[in-house]
Formats: sequence, structure tokens, C-alpha cells
Amino acid sequence: MTVSVGYASGASASSCGYCSPPGERSSSPSSHHSAGLDAMQLSCPVYQAMIDRGWRRSGTWCYKPDLKKSCCPQYTIKLDALTFEPSKSHRKLLRRWNNHIRHGKPGDVMDVDSSVSGGKQGKSKGLPKFSLTSAIHASESGFHDIERPAHTFETILEPSAFTDEKYALYEKYQQEIHHDTGNTPRGFKRFLVSSPLRGDPIPYSSPPSAHLPKTYGSYHQMYRVDGKLIAMAVLDILPKCVSSVYFMYDKDWEAYSLGKLSAMREACLAREMHEAGAKDMAFLYMGFYIYSCQKMRYKGEYAPSYLADPETYDWYPLAQCKNLLEKNRYACFAHRDHSVEGDFDREDPPPELPSEDDQADIQIVGEIVNGVLLTVPLKNYTAPYSQQELAECIDGLGLELAKQVVFAIY
Ligand SMILES: [Zn+2]
Repeated sequence: MTVSVGYASGASASSCGYCSPPGERSSSPSSHHSAGLDAMQLSCPVYQAMIDRGWRRSGTWCYKPDLKKSCCPQYTIKLDALTFEPSKSHRKLLRRWNNHIRHGKPGDVMDVDSSVSGGKQGKSKGLPKFSLTSAIHASESGFHDIERPAHTFETILEPSAFTDEKYALYEKYQQEIHHDTGNTPRGFKRFLVSSPLRGDPIPYSSPPSAHLPKTYGSYHQMYRVDGKLIAMAVLDILPKCVSSVYFMYDKDWEAYSLGKLSAMREACLAREMHEAGAKDMAFLYMGFYIYSCQKMRYKGEYAPSYLADPETYDWYPLAQCKNLLEKNRYACFAHRDHSVEGDFDREDPPPELPSEDDQADIQIVGEIVNGVLLTVPLKNYTAPYSQQELAECIDGLGLELAKQVVFAIY
């Protein structure tokens, strides 16, 4: 067994970062969680299974919000990267960006598809069909064949690591965009650099082009214009998806909607990996979709997108979900009658530990001797611990997944 999970408290945060007034907002992204654990090490397939059950990570802290209790339920959303078609306004953003880099002007000139290699010719005669891959790379160094572009634009995908340059961008972003001045390199590392993910090689069918990652895991995607770092995405590359953890940009470039451009670039990355033979790779996960928060609804502008049902974790097309989301505070797509308009009038009983038989298959770290984890089945674990917190973690993971990880109670 190579996977281990450090299990910690499942305490719920009380303040909401989405609907509470500015100033009272918690900077913690983990509001409303009912299950949480600090992961020492996670394999990418295990973490993929976790996010498919509503988990997210912030550094090594993994948490799963309780949608039933939340004033602003957070639904897991995924975009089908293989059939994604940017809207008209998304295409316009791409053209503006490419024209600025190539010609030094923000004008909306339709010329970006013509001189790029790798573009697919469309069925309509004359005009080449829009190609996401071509448009994404049209102004990028190493892809275009313009002799003297107005600016040099490059993106570099590198394993997640701390640099002063990245921290400077983060600090400026937090101050100028979020008006948050209490940042430290240590907090940046904990939140956006450290990761529990351990990546295996990606099974491409043939050697992939140089800009595609070779192993699963946590990455930083650097956006540079004329050598200067102007934006950075924090990404997890998982077996079935590119998962967007965070995106930050220099306010000087605000007019170009880099956040929207990055979402398209990340969807394109998943598509290119799929086309290079990583067959399971097919989605972009953009984190949580929060219908009750107008500012967070932009994630639904990318189509076709799907929401995970909060009870069965089956996927439902976003368009089908909107009616239920509009009418209810808590929406269940699989069992529509489980949806609730206001607050719950009764408390669900807290989850209980699984049966003795199942407890025999759940591993707990007994002690660490010379760096080796010695585990005991939960059934035989005798030290005192909070049964309710562990029960919430096991319930959040589901039994199948809970049996694939090692819990460390501290
Ligand atoms: Zn709220």
C-alpha cells in the first residue's frame, strides 16, 4: 500500500466566504466542510476519486463541504474538455489577447487562425473552422511562425515549487484584487505550493509534445509576457481531469480577463493530453460551482458542464440543474424531492463508524518506527480518538475509498 492519509479534525467553519459581507469574510476556502483531513501522501487515482465525491484540497488539507448545512452549497462542476466550445465572447477574448501579443493592439481582428500550424480545417468552405487548440497557441512562443511579434508570450508548466517571483505575484494579487494585506511566504507555501499528490507517469500512446506534462501531480503554470511573470495557475493533473486549484494574475493585465483565458487553456490542455493518447483525460474541474453566489456563477459559462449530485455523485448536465438550483437552497438532482428550499427542519443523524467487519479493513497508523508506518486495523485500534470526526471522514470518502487509505490520528 503506497497511499496514506493523515486524518485530522472535521470541525466545521462557521463563517461563509460567499454571502457574508466583505470584511467579515473568512479567507479560508474551507468554509462549510463537514469532513476534513490533512493528507501526507495521496496517489492521483485516489485523489481523483475524492474530488468525484465532492472533496477539494488547499495545500495538503482536503475537505468536503456539507451542502445540506451550507447557506451557499458548493457543487462539484466539471467541463467536458473534449466537446467544449467557447462562446462568442470567449472567442473574442482569445482574439483580443492574440492580437495584442502578435500585433501590439487590442483590436478585434479575425486573423489568428490563418498562420498557425495544427489547426483543423472546418467543413465550411473558405473560412477555417474555429479550433480551440490553434487559438490557444496562436500567440505563444514555440507555436506561431510570426517573425517579429509585438510581444513574447510563453506559458511553462512546472512542478509546484516555491520561488520569490511567484510569491511576489501572489502578494500583489492578494493586495490589489482581494485587498488582503496579511500574506506571508509561509502561508503561500501552505496554500498553493505544498501538495500531497504523488504522480505516476501519464500513459500516452506515443511521446507527447514538449509542452504536455509527463507525470500526474501538482503543477504551476506560469504565464510570461516579455519575460515577466503576469499570471500563474495552480493545477492538479489527475487521471481523468485537469483540476484548477487557483489562478492569480497581475492587476495591470486585468483588462484581458486572464482568468477566463486560463480556463480555456486548461480545457485545451486536457484535450491535448487526451489526443496524445492519455485516453481517460477528458475534463476540466473548475472547483465548486456556487449558484447562490453571483460572482461564482461564471464557471457555468463554459459548456457542456456537469454538476455532481450531492447524494449519489452522479453527473447531471448543468442546464438541467438550474431550475432546481433556482428554487431551492439545497438541490438534489438525483432525488428531486430531497431538495430543500430553506433551512433543514431536522438534523440528519451524524454518520457512525462502519461495522466491525468493515473496521477490520480500515487501516490506522499505530506507530512510525524508523520512518516505516506500522498500521493496525481500526477494529483493533485502542488509543482514544474522536469517533465522530473519523466517522465523518470515512463517510465522506465512502467505504471503498476509506479502505484504500491509511489514517493517522493525531
Ligand atoms: Zn453563504
